[in-house]
Amino acid sequence: MPRFSGKTVIITGSSHGIGRCVALMFAQDGANVTITGRNAQRLQETKQQILNSGVSECHLNSVLGDVTTSEGQDELIKTTLDKFGKIDILVNNAGASIMDISGPTGVDQSMDIYHKNMQLNLQSVIEMTRKVKPHLMETKGEIVNVSTIGAGPHAQPDFLYYSIAKAALDQYTRSSAIDLIQHGIRVNSVSPGIVVTGFIGAAGLENESARKFYEKLASNKQWIPAMVAGKPEDIGNIILFLADRKLSSYIIGQSIVADGGSTLVMGVDFGAAMQ
Ligand code: NDP
Repeated sequence: MPRFSGKTVIITGSSHGIGRCVALMFAQDGANVTITGRNAQRLQETKQQILNSGVSECHLNSVLGDVTTSEGQDELIKTTLDKFGKIDILVNNAGASIMDISGPTGVDQSMDIYHKNMQLNLQSVIEMTRKVKPHLMETKGEIVNVSTIGAGPHAQPDFLYYSIAKAALDQYTRSSAIDLIQHGIRVNSVSPGIVVTGFIGAAGLENESARKFYEKLASNKQWIPAMVAGKPEDIGNIILFLADRKLSSYIIGQSIVADGGSTLVMGVDFGAAMQ
């Protein structure tokens, strides 16, 4: 029997990138999945990919909406319960570095940009967790948050507000995990390094610049020692592991880093300095 057979999973930000891949992986592994995002065409592409993989439409719930709004969140939960009757797993994946690419940098970035980053990358996770909690208490379910290696300890002045939102998310993962484990709910997180998705496009880079960005990063072992940019599956495998109580039940409130080695070399380069 597929390992998530009978389980119901909500994956936010599943109209593209890591979330799309994770939705496909859960669906192929037997789960009922709720997919969501704001872009109708891309959400439809995710749905079609899942159906094309042989999953029946009765295991799929597709919700167009904005996860930063109360209505968007409520719709996700309501339609999931209407269709599948319960919620076992919440993957808080929707996220982006919202930037004004031609605007001020560092601490001069506007408060509007600050609020948008906090709303999407932190507040929506907090709100979804609060709303899904009673349903996960019933199923003894799991939450997996998606953070980033940009959360620290290294400074990220270019991605300032995104990074501080995700750093706060890491503390939320730890603290909510300890609060919720008393109810049988497990919370964990994954911290990706560079992964090829729409992330850098959403931050404002057009396609060709985004392609060069990933190529440049992967060609430098001081940025990615594995010398390859990550694929959504690299993160998806960790998310499914953390959502699978049979495999990861003793992991509580942790974040697993998957970054091709980037965080181990983000510091002083003594070798280069000696040359
Ligand atoms: P993508 O841009 O490919 O996907 C982001 C997803 O989030 C899309 O489905 C998008 O859907 C959704 N989303 C964004 N804003 C909203 C919103 N307001 N309401 C609903 N959905 C929203 O990026 P990734 O797949 O890379 O991003 C997934 C997660 O991974 C994020 O949390 C990101 O911070 C994290 N991450 C990514 C890294 C990378 O290198 N790619 C590195 C570290 C962390 P739509 O546009 O349709 O609304």
